[in-house]
Amino acid sequence: MEEGYIKFSVDWEKGEAVEAAFLEEVIQVRQQLYQRGWIGVYPDGVGYGNISKRRDAEGRFVISGTATGHLENLTPEHFSRVEEVVVAENRVRCTGPVVASSESMSHAAIYRQNREVQGVIHIHCMTLWEKWKDRAPTTPESIPYGTPEMAFAIMDLLDDPDRARWQFFVMGGHREGCMAFGKNLWDVLEILLKL
Ligand SMILES: [Zn+2]
Repeated sequence: MEEGYIKFSVDWEKGEAVEAAFLEEVIQVRQQLYQRGWIGVYPDGVGYGNISKRRDAEGRFVISGTATGHLENLTPEHFSRVEEVVVAENRVRCTGPVVASSESMSHAAIYRQNREVQGVIHIHCMTLWEKWKDRAPTTPESIPYGTPEMAFAIMDLLDDPDRARWQFFVMGGHREGCMAFGKNLWDVLEILLKL
């Protein structure tokens, strides 16, 4: 159920934090998500949920770091730059003060598939998950979080304009997991609030 551990091979180069101005929107929206319990921590101490913002046309992005779900407020020290994702090799290269989220590959799949997407959010919400599973676009139950299979399933889903139009999907094999995306993160928050 949880974002317990990273399933891809990670090539992390410790580096400077992302500029605060770039992260302003990310940090504010993330705060809203935390307050609703859509990003947070389970009683066993495992954090869940993550948020990202596109950096360039090639699909590079900034994402909240692994093991940051429990923090009420994030600062630039809690974000990582995803520089390269090779889905077929299950490999992620990132730089920054922390290692990128375990769900980085799923975010990458969305940026890759839709060049207009500027922001992506992954939340956990049992209410939305139960309500929309198999009613909204849903990835197969057999596919777990944070895997190349999930990335391929997402690309497949977004290939279909009727499903992509939702700007939202349920991760069928990741209990409570939902993802949404849009032209900026405030818009993505709005999409989630309307569901
Ligand atoms: Zn998750």
